[in-house]
Amino acid sequence: MKVRAAVARAGQGLSIENCELAEPGEQEVRVKVEATGICHTDLIALSGNLGTPLPAVLGHEGVGRIEASGPGVTGFSTGQRVLMSFGACGGCSSCQRAEPAYCHQAMTLNLAGTRLDGSSPVQGENGEPLTGHFFAQSSFATHCIARTTNLVALPDDIPAEHLAPLACSAQTGLSSVVTLLRPAAGSRLAVFGCGTVGLSAVIAARNLGCKVIVAIDRNPDRLALAKELGATHLLQGDMEALKAQFKDIGPVHNVFDTTGVPALIALGMASLLPQGKVLLAGVSPTGTELKVDLQAMVFGGRSLAGTIEGNANPRDFIPDMVHWYREGKLPLDRLVRCYDFEQIDQAVEDLRSGAVVKPVLRMATSH
Ligand SMILES: [Zn+2]
Ligand SMILES: [Zn+2]
Repeated sequence: MKVRAAVARAGQGLSIENCELAEPGEQEVRVKVEATGICHTDLIALSGNLGTPLPAVLGHEGVGRIEASGPGVTGFSTGQRVLMSFGACGGCSSCQRAEPAYCHQAMTLNLAGTRLDGSSPVQGENGEPLTGHFFAQSSFATHCIARTTNLVALPDDIPAEHLAPLACSAQTGLSSVVTLLRPAAGSRLAVFGCGTVGLSAVIAARNLGCKVIVAIDRNPDRLALAKELGATHLLQGDMEALKAQFKDIGPVHNVFDTTGVPALIALGMASLLPQGKVLLAGVSPTGTELKVDLQAMVFGGRSLAGTIEGNANPRDFIPDMVHWYREGKLPLDRLVRCYDFEQIDQAVEDLRSGAVVKPVLRMATSH
């Protein structure tokens, strides 16, 4: 069928074009997209530095309704509202252990943006090949083909733009704290970088009763928002200034990094209490190295680890977050600014400049 999709072309940015969407295949559904978030990963893919072949239809935080199902689809039905999280095959040992973030096919389904057989469900109006299964969805479009393995059922009564970030960025920040760091009530936690991932971690830390929540960012508006969401200490400045400020606050139990900046991560390691942990969710360039005091790790039982999507299993985790949302503990509306689909260039620009934390596109045809 004919759909409208934002096509990313190398060196040319995005343009909304008529495209042709295939019928849903085995274990696939067609989703009429209501809204989709824009994530930094989309910007990296657009720049060509993620390895996703361009031209491509990007987008990986989609919310919408199932319009049609392919063969073998069970557990989801036409008309159902769903969140499209990251892609996973459903069959490998990681998927079988309910750890889809480490699916053996994650590169293919998410970054390479193809089905498992290498095909794409989207092509240009004139038959131009397009990468059209980014994160098993490519949701910068009025309609897309998604795998059932990345779908999570959603209630009908919550605005799509508040739910969309749960697909990737908010899920990563929330699950990194809730599932992995699991800070004790009254403990001390620091968050480096206050985009959607970092601010979601601040929200989680506050909900879990952390007494000290340190937030670091270069943008004073982001820090002000972090404070409203629960941060108790706001740090900004060059490395020397940050070190001095951190010293005044004292060591922490947990550090969550979303920046991928080695000097900051080293500061985090040096600021840990015994048995403290630094968890990395920011993506550093390939080959980035860090100097670490190994003795301090052993003597203090300290650790350094990384995570994709906060190790979340979306099927379990997103319903928990919807529960938090209903209880008023997840003010995702504070992070989001809505744009019409046609304003995608402005939305991308505002994410890039830092003017907006989480731009969410609303698809005009989804009424
Ligand atoms: Zn898998
Ligand atoms: Zn993302």
